[in-house]
Amino acid sequence: MKNLHHLFAALVLSLLSLGATQTFAEELIIYSARNEQLIKPLIDVYTRETGTKISFITDKAGPLLQRLKSEGKNTRADLLITVDAGNLWHAAREGVLQPVESQILQSNIPVHLRDPGNQWFGLSLRARTIVYSTERVEPAELSTYEELGAPQWQDRLLLRTSKKVYNQSLVAMLIAEHGEAGAEVIVRSWVDNLATKPFSNDTKVMEAILAGQGDVGIVNTYYFGRLLKKNPDLQLALFWPNQKSTGVHVNISGAGVTRYAKHPEAAIKFLEWLSSEEAQNLFADVNMEYPVNQNVTTHPEVAAWGGFKASKQNLEIAGQLQNAAIRLMDRADYR
Ligand code: FE
Repeated sequence: MKNLHHLFAALVLSLLSLGATQTFAEELIIYSARNEQLIKPLIDVYTRETGTKISFITDKAGPLLQRLKSEGKNTRADLLITVDAGNLWHAAREGVLQPVESQILQSNIPVHLRDPGNQWFGLSLRARTIVYSTERVEPAELSTYEELGAPQWQDRLLLRTSKKVYNQSLVAMLIAEHGEAGAEVIVRSWVDNLATKPFSNDTKVMEAILAGQGDVGIVNTYYFGRLLKKNPDLQLALFWPNQKSTGVHVNISGAGVTRYAKHPEAAIKFLEWLSSEEAQNLFADVNMEYPVNQNVTTHPEVAAWGGFKASKQNLEIAGQLQNAAIRLMDRADYR
């Protein structure tokens, strides 16, 4: 009887541990265009809470997409994390993502910040807005993106290169609002007002304003935040344009489950968690961005830049009109 008891106990134990390995052996592999410093803190919290083992590879958006395409069915990646709806749209179009039906994602993420086909989801929000010299510009002089082409800004405007997806998305949204001909008139007027040739990144645009090379520019909010952190007396401020019309152009960082994910359920669970109230601040605050989940408050340092009306156009447009935007900027001599 005693032996039988032991045998039974051993059986229960082995069944339990079998169950345990099945429950906790969740694994997840991520390809991320966001750098380690931005995603590692989140992954650590998630692993601690759920026991899910997460590995990741970081690279630029282009090479990661190429890699997913060439690996095809053999990819080990379950999730692609990248920035800009233009990049996410491309990934979906290249067939490396799969649609995800999730009530949680649909209720946590506003409809204009995710793919209508459910292949990608925005996880943090950044605004691409006007930055100006507080020494040489009064905010009352500013109004819209379109007005940056007005004569008063002649030789005073600074822009980042048109090669960057951020500006391609911005111009794609202008095309959606004004039509291609209308958007071309606007972009040409910007080019005419340039104080100097476009810069390779947003930070250089702001540094050039500080150096007096120009007075206004267009940048993503978190780059302004980074500079402000380094120098609290920064002689720059953000301006929220188009408040009486379309709203400020916003974009996202986001993610999608890969088409050939080996752990799709784990990937969806992680995505859902990233959109949750618990994770949204971790995801947004680390890069001084805005949460996409409307129940989550913006970090005070970011909120201090002021509230604004954001464009509600579906970001899918950034992908659909990206090629048209690239061609338009080329015609307008925006390099
Ligand atoms: Fe960026």
